Amino acid sequence: MNWRLSAREIALRAEEAKKLSSPCGLCPRCCGVHRLSGEQGYCDCGPMPRIAAVTAHFGEEPPLTVDGGAGTVFFSRCNMSCVFCQNHQISQGSLGRDVTEGTLAQEMLRLQSLGCANIEAVSASHQLPWFLEALASARESGLDLPIVYNTNGYEAPQTLEILEGIVDVYLPDLKYASDECASCYSDTPDYVRVARQAVSMMHSQVGNLVVDLSGRAVRGLIIRLLVLPNGIAGIQDSLLWIKDHFPATVTLSIMSQYAPLHHASKHPELNTTITEHEYEAILEEAWDLGFENIYIQDMTSSRCGIPDFSSDRPFSWDDT
Ligand code: SF4
Ligand code: SF4
Repeated sequence: MNWRLSAREIALRAEEAKKLSSPCGLCPRCCGVHRLSGEQGYCDCGPMPRIAAVTAHFGEEPPLTVDGGAGTVFFSRCNMSCVFCQNHQISQGSLGRDVTEGTLAQEMLRLQSLGCANIEAVSASHQLPWFLEALASARESGLDLPIVYNTNGYEAPQTLEILEGIVDVYLPDLKYASDECASCYSDTPDYVRVARQAVSMMHSQVGNLVVDLSGRAVRGLIIRLLVLPNGIAGIQDSLLWIKDHFPATVTLSIMSQYAPLHHASKHPELNTTITEHEYEAILEEAWDLGFENIYIQDMTSSRCGIPDFSSDRPFSWDDT
């Protein structure tokens, strides 16, 4: 299917998402708290959008940035607790501000006026009802950009059903191939089954990546695989699973940018960057398996800059 929901239909989906938030089953943790009454669960979020940054960002894969940058909306907090989180200031810290849905809609329109290639919702699942309310309002006021949904992959099927026809491009991580690692480093002991089911649903909704004549992603799926040191991400296993469940033309983004941040120093096996040899071996594996569309990073990516969300310009290098 290739259609886009109207503002009215998105508003109805926002209502569905609100029902799913009280008791909360917006994500696989199913905390059961009544978010609409202000109760907070694992993600510590209440009944308003809480955002950390809204900015044109040039650090994403090329079809997501093209000339104007990705129009990123970074939502605060997260439903995972990765010990190495690059965005820990906002995912596990307190940075962010509560805004109204109207303000968030205006911010999306501002990104469009800046010439951004899309609206990229980063870690939105735990704030889905409020994101969708804002999106409905922005569409009503003329927002006409593709919607990119950047997610850790730890998504509930009910949430993805709500998003069908709203999200144009899914950008999920497949962080682990072992629940033991997922439990130890991200507090998600059921990650592998959940994320694999989620990525399969995403592909069945939007299919392979499609770009327009300007090279901008307008539909489809990009699976992100962040290489962690010492094989912790289990990328080879993930590649084998992808090969068995998707066409060889599915788009992968194999990332070398890991840096040992946040609590990584407490885990000696994570307290290092990856080696060129580790990264090359994974790329070889992906090519040998026949994948045709792979975005790769250079080995300096881990040194390119760490966002500082306490600044007005968290990606200050984007300005240069
Ligand atoms: S899923 Fe992403 S944002 Fe959330 S804690 Fe892990 S690395 Fe950070
Ligand atoms: S969205 Fe938050 S409160 Fe709801 S189930 Fe997930 S972690 Fe719990």
